[in-house]
Amino acid sequence: MDVKSWLRPAAAALHSGWRGTRLSIAGRGVRALQHAAGAEPQRGLAAIGPSIGRCCYEVSQELAAMFRGLFGPEAADDPAKTAKPHLDLRYCVESALVEAGVPRERIEQVAGCTSCDIDAYFSHRRDKGRTGRHLAFIAAREQ
Ligand SMILES: [Zn+2]
Repeated sequence: MDVKSWLRPAAAALHSGWRGTRLSIAGRGVRALQHAAGAEPQRGLAAIGPSIGRCCYEVSQELAAMFRGLFGPEAADDPAKTAKPHLDLRYCVESALVEAGVPRERIEQVAGCTSCDIDAYFSHRRDKGRTGRHLAFIAAREQ
């Protein structure tokens, strides 16, 4: 059996809130696909779906400092310069994917902020936990 015969298409959908992002759930997902299906990260495609944007994601100074330590200074505003820093989860998730081997040019960022765009998205944070649902799916297509 040659190596290519056991490779098979693989896909995953992951939710990455701040806790999962802190633990690099996106990178762990890439590694899980490698392990389970022999996926090659450099050939992978990733999409980061709608989420709360940096524009609306105010976090504590401690959380901002932690994310800057994990993902670099672009991850959040400098808590030494503002009492209300904002976190850029999209940047952190993209960084985790790149760190796991997915080329940056193969990562799509779906535009939109789930907190700003009240007509298009439910936001747990904005709506203070009132009900709302999101749906995400992966569709296979022939190449
Ligand atoms: Zn926003």
